[in-house]
Amino acid sequence: MAVREILIHPHPMLRTKAEEVMDFGAELQTLIDDMFETMRAASGVGLAAPQVNVPLRVLVVEYAQDDAARPERYALVNPKLVYVSPETEIGTEGCLSIPGIFGEVIRPRSIIVRGQDRYGNPVTIRAHGWLARIFQHEIDHLNGVLFIDKAVRTWREEVIPVAEGVG
Ligand code: ZN
Repeated sequence: MAVREILIHPHPMLRTKAEEVMDFGAELQTLIDDMFETMRAASGVGLAAPQVNVPLRVLVVEYAQDDAARPERYALVNPKLVYVSPETEIGTEGCLSIPGIFGEVIRPRSIIVRGQDRYGNPVTIRAHGWLARIFQHEIDHLNGVLFIDKAVRTWREEVIPVAEGVG
């Protein structure tokens, strides 16, 4: 496994629509392992493949609801949002590709996402609150969308706000 370089906005790869994964072989397995390692090294809660310069529809998420909880860990390939709740909520987001900038983003509170696991098996994930927010942020990355496009306001902050994640 290896920590890969995280691309920084405004790198053009961050604005590229990523392609469907067709090959679940060794190269994908290495990519996913490296993405987990890269995300952890950067203290992120999520990471999308374009952020490490790979234009494929792959994301990883690792998020603990609180310090005592075991983290929920996902590697999701070819994810599709199949349901978003009409209820929305506002939350503070940051992004490993946009260091030092935070913003308030309004997003659906609950989602259902379908995709494949790292071996190509179909998976369905229901998520609420922060976990739903992380998935939406990472799926946006696969479509070349950044949180600053959706934020109702942004600001500069050198210290990551407590209890708020970046991906
Ligand atoms: Zn991000």
